[in-house]
Amino acid sequence: MREFDHDLIILGSGIAGLRAAIEAARISRGEADIAIISKVQLMRSHSVCAEGGTAAVMHPEEGDSLELHAWDTVRGSDFLADQDAVARFIEEAPKEIIQLEHWGIPWSRRPDGRIDQRPFGGHSFDRAVFAADKTGFFEMHTLYDTLQKYARVTRYDECYATSILVEDSSFRGLTVWDLTSGDFFVLRGRALIIATGGACRMYGFTTYSLTATGDGLAMAYRAGFPLKDMEFVQFHPTGLVPSGILITEGARGEGGYLINSKGERFMEKYAPAKKEIAPRDIVSRSMITEIEQGRGFARPDGLDYIHIDLRHLGADKINQRLPLIREVAIKFAFLDPISEPIPVRPAAHYFMGGIHTDIDGATSIEGVWVAGEAGCVSLHGANRLGANSTAECLVWGKITGAKAVNWAIKRKALPLVSRERLRQEEALLFEEFHDKGENAYLIRKELQDIMDHRVGVFRNELELESALKRIRELKESVKYAQVKDKSRIYNTNLLTVLEVKNLLDLAEVIVAGGLARTESRGAHSRRDFPQRDDVNWLKHTLAYYAPEGPRLDFTPVTITMWEPVERRY
Ligand SMILES: Cc1cc2nc3c(=O)[nH]c(=O)nc-3n(C[C@H](O)[C@H](O)[C@H](O)COP(=O)(O)OP(=O)(O)OC[C@H]3O[C@@H](n4cnc5c(N)ncnc54)[C@H](O)[C@@H]3O)c2cc1C
Repeated sequence: MREFDHDLIILGSGIAGLRAAIEAARISRGEADIAIISKVQLMRSHSVCAEGGTAAVMHPEEGDSLELHAWDTVRGSDFLADQDAVARFIEEAPKEIIQLEHWGIPWSRRPDGRIDQRPFGGHSFDRAVFAADKTGFFEMHTLYDTLQKYARVTRYDECYATSILVEDSSFRGLTVWDLTSGDFFVLRGRALIIATGGACRMYGFTTYSLTATGDGLAMAYRAGFPLKDMEFVQFHPTGLVPSGILITEGARGEGGYLINSKGERFMEKYAPAKKEIAPRDIVSRSMITEIEQGRGFARPDGLDYIHIDLRHLGADKINQRLPLIREVAIKFAFLDPISEPIPVRPAAHYFMGGIHTDIDGATSIEGVWVAGEAGCVSLHGANRLGANSTAECLVWGKITGAKAVNWAIKRKALPLVSRERLRQEEALLFEEFHDKGENAYLIRKELQDIMDHRVGVFRNELELESALKRIRELKESVKYAQVKDKSRIYNTNLLTVLEVKNLLDLAEVIVAGGLARTESRGAHSRRDFPQRDDVNWLKHTLAYYAPEGPRLDFTPVTITMWEPVERRY
């Protein structure tokens, strides 16, 4: 088996991974040899989809402040965010905006040339810095261009990591399947940054890229890293019906209205002050309530919807500020938002939970850090505010890039990887080739139906119990999944089996955490426990891998600034 050695391995080439790579290359001044590995071509990472903006305090002279951004984030999180992490985040985010500006990003601007900002849900100031409605696309290009300055960076594109090798609580390397050549090899490294993004592809109606299957989370979980707060899955209020493609919160930030089938702007009832730009958990619950009470628009496939109406914004504003939204509506819903409202409903959109880390993004395993959506530094708590994620990827990309490369430089010897372990890994991967057996595509479809219907915006014990039971049965079935394609090269059939296994492991953790948490907080809304319960549940959930299902534990929330109060918008 071939073996490649690097000082630092970065698993994932989204905004978090690329930002980490730049920082590591910059501060190591060529001393460290860095690898970036991605299951897709680098620029096809999910981050290019980010649309609406990146949150940071840019104009304090106009009334915004770091304290206000911190308060909005903590209140938005339903008080589950760790407040020391929030404090670090809001201080670093403006520096990242300026850093990207210096690297050449075309931020949208005010008429006087200063960086523009738009309103976003749950922020009490216009705080989302944006590049039209293609913010992630431009951020990725800017980071990619900047990375070209550094020589000692090796790319492994279209290479799929299958396992994180940990021995004696210390990082050893990754096993990797090169999808383009069919090779199976090991990457040995002194340090690892996991930046593999989220996993909402376990839902059918989702804004996510097809590739966002939570591989990094699942690999880490199986390797012994605890996952934190996984029951908190964000539903974005405006997924385009029927595809789920995102209609950015920027559309409501720019002034779009949510309208029910009675023609009412119903958010006035649920969040009188913020209306459409209340936090996402509140807007999503309001929309589902309107639909359940018969004030939505019915569809035969069950994807009943609400309208987002942009018509009053006028053609000029829509073309300038929301060109992608117009293009998406025309191409995928066959209507022009300049003259017609767009059909939308809440769609699975973001994982607040992830691999448990400390405030530096460090994990419990020596030599491993996590950045971006794969991690849970506890910035978003139970509900993320829009535009805080890309900012988090930048801030903790930079932090972990520096920490990990400094560690790698000091750690002299490359760790040894046991030959026997590698042989087992390869056999495990390619023994998936069953001639006859279960259909992984149908298993995935069933998982998505379960998650859409029983682990959605509203939850209850009965549905969660039945979801858990069926997910466990599907986990058994997938062990015997059929792989008709016998090739090792671009074998998407085998790839699907691996991804579905990962999704099932993570779905089990989400449901187990959701069942245990007998309260409603942020995005986790239990009909049978409708109140937030700070006495018993002001704590993070930790899930540890065990063959029979996750073992749950809990850890306190760090409160340094604000005690929990009722959220009103
Ligand atoms: C449609 C949409 C719009 C959004 N808009 C915004 C916005 O405007 N503002 C905002 O703040 N947030 C937004 N978000 C959220 C934000 O885009 C994401 O949270 C963020 O981009 C995640 O970046 P990341 O670097 O953590 O991971 P990703 O960009 O998801 O990258 C993951 C990387 O890991 C690699 N990878 C995964 N598994 C493997 C494996 N097994 N082997 C090898 N490589 C692997 C992938 O190839 C990829 O390179 C949006 C989300 C969606 C879905």
